[in-house]
Amino acid sequence: MNAPVSHAPVGAVRHDWTRNEILALFALPFNDLLFQAHTVHRAHFNPNEVQVSTLCSIKTGACPEDCAYCPQSARYDTGLEREKLMQVEKVVEEARAAKASGATRFCMGAAWRSPKGKDMPYVTQMVQEVKSLGLETCMTLGMLDQDQAKSLADAGLDYYNHNLDTSPEYYGEIITTRTYQDRLDTLANVRSAGMKVCCGGIVGMGEEAGDRAGLLQQLANMADHPESVPINMLVKVEGTPLDQLDDLDPLDFVRTIAVARIMMPESHVRLSAGREEMSDEMQAMTFFAGANSIFYGEKLLTTANPESNKDMQLFSRLGIQPEQRHVHDDDSAVAAQISDALEASHNDQFFYDAAK
Ligand code: SF4
Repeated sequence: MNAPVSHAPVGAVRHDWTRNEILALFALPFNDLLFQAHTVHRAHFNPNEVQVSTLCSIKTGACPEDCAYCPQSARYDTGLEREKLMQVEKVVEEARAAKASGATRFCMGAAWRSPKGKDMPYVTQMVQEVKSLGLETCMTLGMLDQDQAKSLADAGLDYYNHNLDTSPEYYGEIITTRTYQDRLDTLANVRSAGMKVCCGGIVGMGEEAGDRAGLLQQLANMADHPESVPINMLVKVEGTPLDQLDDLDPLDFVRTIAVARIMMPESHVRLSAGREEMSDEMQAMTFFAGANSIFYGEKLLTTANPESNKDMQLFSRLGIQPEQRHVHDDDSAVAAQISDALEASHNDQFFYDAAK
């Protein structure tokens, strides 16, 4: 395959990627690709910082959509209990615990096709109250029209997550109940309401390398790159249509992270679903390739002991610090909590400090 044809310097923010250029990146020798991605990463970010968010499912299960990977779809028998919308006070309690554990962003997700009118007062109140704790806020509630996007933005929502999932060509194999254009329309509504965009996709759903290139092309050729780009690795859940697929080659996942980093040099590239199934070594390789955002493991919220948290231990072994925010007055308190937790994890006899 030919080398990339653009004359733009490597690491430049571009919006004119061709499919062949992207495929040429995917086809690079692994070491060349990782070197290029890491060079871009260093030019734009501190390579030893990773942003951490906490995820809270505010309404689980019984979703009318048919996303083939998703255990929350009502169409598949995955044994998931359906839940009602969580009470606002309960969400705020979870957010408080997340903040105490060092998270700087709190993401609230609901398994809806789109929010209904009766839901909006509750979700906007959640945004206001979580934000008042000094956390950044993110929501994923399905499709939004212009008015809904504006209401959320007015409530102070910082980020809205809505993924494209895969390439336009492969999309119909995965979802039939909403179109690619529906998704692009929601993203446009989020942007025009002034919120930041969190948008990415999933690899390992049986797609070809060309589809991974197609997904990244859609993301990188937007007028503004999504500020946050979650790259998920399919979690095969029994009962979903994709549960019998072959495992993805982990190196293909790392390649996807690296190409995303090169194409969207100023975005946070996030390891999302599937991270629990990755070895520490694979996660380390993705951080080198340019991933710089994660969700904290759920266990962090239920344990008082930071030594027992795998994520903290991995950060410590790699000499990685959680990225700090510089927006709210109480940032220093959050930073102190994070460094206390890391200091505690440094003392653990079961791992060493790679930064020393
Ligand atoms: S819209 Fe979201 S919650 Fe519903 S099936 Fe698709 S991925 Fe799952």
